[in-house]
Amino acid sequence: MIEGKGLRVWDASGREHIDAVSGGVWTVNVGYGRESIANAIRDQVVKLNFFAQSAGSVPGAVFAEKLIEKMPGLSRVYYVNSGSEANEKAFKMVRQIAHKRYGGKKRKILYRERDYHGSTISTISAGGQAERNAQYGPYTPGFVSVPHCLEYRAQWDVENYGERAADAIEEVILREGPDTVGALCLETVTAGGGVIPAPQGYWERVQEICRKYDILLHLDEVVCGVGRTGTWFGYQQYGIKPDLVTMAKGVASGYAAIACLVTTENVFEMFKDEASDPLNHFRDISTFGGCTGGPAAALENMRIIEDEDLLGNTTTMGARLMDNLHALKDRHAVVGDVRGSGLFCGAELVADRISKDPVAEAQVQAVIADCMGQGVIIGATARAVPGFNNTLCLAPSLIATADDIDAITDAIDHALTRVFG
Ligand code: PLP
Repeated sequence: MIEGKGLRVWDASGREHIDAVSGGVWTVNVGYGRESIANAIRDQVVKLNFFAQSAGSVPGAVFAEKLIEKMPGLSRVYYVNSGSEANEKAFKMVRQIAHKRYGGKKRKILYRERDYHGSTISTISAGGQAERNAQYGPYTPGFVSVPHCLEYRAQWDVENYGERAADAIEEVILREGPDTVGALCLETVTAGGGVIPAPQGYWERVQEICRKYDILLHLDEVVCGVGRTGTWFGYQQYGIKPDLVTMAKGVASGYAAIACLVTTENVFEMFKDEASDPLNHFRDISTFGGCTGGPAAALENMRIIEDEDLLGNTTTMGARLMDNLHALKDRHAVVGDVRGSGLFCGAELVADRISKDPVAEAQVQAVIADCMGQGVIIGATARAVPGFNNTLCLAPSLIATADDIDAITDAIDHALTRVFG
């Protein structure tokens, strides 16, 4: 692609496309071609482009203040450059707390099947997508997997599925020993692993379990943070209070490489006891976390979301997208399940609704190619969850209009008819 404006992009041949995946990987939350963000970056970097630890710069400090206003209960912001790096920093904090407070014992970090937390060795060690991890071992020790919570592919036959799926995490904690587990790291809404919002009751129970065993709750909001679900952060729809939150893609909508790790005052306080041991502070640095263009872009990105009521638009348009997906499910037997939160939706394609066998990868690719031919770019879950690369992914920019949403689902409707009859 060589140019973008709003929700549309143009390829090298000059052909226009509706982008239903915000730059391919759910990133461009406020849409393309925002001159005010470009100007904010330019004005800032001409004034002061860099100084180590950008919270020390004016836009760094102001953005941190504004961000924590949106995150009651959290109060400290650390700037880095990517989602992987934000998660790595969170893992380092958990490990250091284990050493400082628990004699090195509470150092295990639990992660969930199907979730993804990044591309570095430690984040793939916390990665529940087998194909992304293969051939990169040995992995960082101390990461332990817990079951996923996708009700459509239920692993337990019970009524309160959300609570049952959370109880499965408790079973792992008890098996490993609660005094060995420091944190639970989960995507609030699993993205590339299948677009999976948790079932009702899940998060409340997860929080209860974390509190019961003194385990930090780390939520990876790299995809679902900054408005994508219709609230500033996905977890805010469940009334829970995480200890660590990581975010990246929508922070500056891809106009600058900025990601954040946000923690509670309680976590921050744990690193302040330097008097007893000079190693007690968080000994970490991110050189380019000191770039001021990132927070300048993030501030303007946040202003746009507020002034244009993009949270409200995401809620309204997300509901329309979900209604349209339900209509597709009624019309096409191949659509086995539709799910999502705000403008972050998926449609899982199955060869048979009873067996729920996934359709062939080539068929998923044919649907994507057909949509592309109609000028609509959609995505699918990665091959990384073997056998389950069968979910169409939709995450248009938060500026999407009703006409855009209808054009996206119309294209999928035609594609499904052509590919599956
Ligand atoms: N966490 C989640 C949920 C992601 O989807 C991704 C990337 O897609 C990451 C972490 C890693 O982010 P990055 O590619 O910026 O390192």
